[in-house]
Amino acid sequence: MTDRYQKQRMKMVDLQLRGRGISDQRVLRAMEKIPRHAFVPDALREQAYNDNPLPIESQQTISQPYIVALMSSALELTGKERVLEIGTGSGYQTAILAELAERVFSIERIAALAASARRVLDALDYYNIAIRVGDGTLGWREEAPFSGIMVTAGAPGAPRFLLEQLVVGGRLVIPVGSHSSQILLRLTRLSDDPADIKTEEFCGCRFVDLIGEQGWKNG
Ligand code: SAM
Repeated sequence: MTDRYQKQRMKMVDLQLRGRGISDQRVLRAMEKIPRHAFVPDALREQAYNDNPLPIESQQTISQPYIVALMSSALELTGKERVLEIGTGSGYQTAILAELAERVFSIERIAALAASARRVLDALDYYNIAIRVGDGTLGWREEAPFSGIMVTAGAPGAPRFLLEQLVVGGRLVIPVGSHSSQILLRLTRLSDDPADIKTEEFCGCRFVDLIGEQGWKNG
């Protein structure tokens, strides 16, 4: 897609992503393609390709591009998967997942955010995304199991329901820690027992709270 931000977008991908070791070609192509500026408030469009998170409505944030790329790469998607995202927010990460997987299910607890994400994603012709409003810590049982689950809010621990809704071999990418800092984890389900998981640590990060029955209770 050619637009007046294309140069900035290519530079973001080169410097912030390739320059920091992101090598998944499908992730890099998706981030070269998707107009991140369409997902940020109008007043912040000029900052859309900066190397930091930005505020969106309802006191939430759109994540730093590098974190979006890292989390997307960590799912190791090939294009055939059904994936679940918890925390639709602006819908930007949802669009990246829609480029990388066959079908994306995304849950957002704030109805106004889910509605504006839907509008932007519809305008960009994404037809493989289902969004629902609710508590994502419970997962989306009717659509499970998923090959990949991404949680884009900081959790006190990995929600049991999400591990139960992964296929064997599926991956859950989730920031886990306190309210103020978390470690980005990838949990791979190893067997029929959802507690049988391999845990890998990626990096320190800071997300808004995951609020819900299997998250923080302060919503
Ligand atoms: N991925 C988003 C993007 O690209 O704009 C950023 C998401 S923002 C960091 C975290 C989002 O998680 C917020 O929109 C917040 O409302 C949502 N959230 C928090 N707890 C949730 C829950 N239990 N279920 C669904 N969404 C939740």
